[in-house]
Amino acid sequence: MRILISNDDGYLAPGINALAAALAPIADIVVVAPDSNRSGASNSLSLDRPLSVQQAANGFYFVNGTPTDCVHVALTGILDFVPDLVVSGINNGPNMGDDTLYSGTVAAATEGYLFGIPAIAFSQGTYGWEHIDDAARHARDIVERYFAALPRPYLLNVNIPNRPYEQLTSVVATRLGRRHQAEPVIKAKDPRGKDIYWIGPPGATKDAGEGTDFHACAHGLTSITPLQIDLTHKTQLDALSKALA
Ligand code: MN
Repeated sequence: MRILISNDDGYLAPGINALAAALAPIADIVVVAPDSNRSGASNSLSLDRPLSVQQAANGFYFVNGTPTDCVHVALTGILDFVPDLVVSGINNGPNMGDDTLYSGTVAAATEGYLFGIPAIAFSQGTYGWEHIDDAARHARDIVERYFAALPRPYLLNVNIPNRPYEQLTSVVATRLGRRHQAEPVIKAKDPRGKDIYWIGPPGATKDAGEGTDFHACAHGLTSITPLQIDLTHKTQLDALSKALA
């Protein structure tokens, strides 16, 4: 098996290093990741400048671009083969509910999926890398268990609780939860007195009920949500068609 690995926390992040180390024994791996932390990059492509690709001493490729740039460049410019699987992560912190729209971790996997390749995004339920090697070993189990089990291509969003490996025993299929609207920006002054704004934290969970990713992870279960890309609002399409008729 040949696996392309990317992330949004950058090629030096503990999460991608743990994931690469865990997958190396079961696959030929290629790592192509951003040169710095690009969390929140969503599916952005850099169209206003060229991208450069460098290779670190450990063989990882790093790119001065977004997660989507990395997978796009890897699939169309670096690799001379089509990988069997694209994996992204392991992200520092959760990517659940509405967060998945902003996530660079999910976006890297999505780019593989858009090229018709099975893809899995991995995130840890809590920030801070606690038990990251356990999460990576668990991620390898998931790849081994489910890689061939689903119709292709698929796009899976996986959130793993920060727990010792022995306690990562339950994996459940979930739907995305929902959040309330985000907290406001945080206004401050730069050293020259000019107004600046920090993007504030995400909103509190609104739908975190049973069956959601939020609910599973909060109860110590590994959450897997199958994602799709078609944003069409099917029922409104009918209403719109009638309104325009
Ligand atoms: Mn991140």
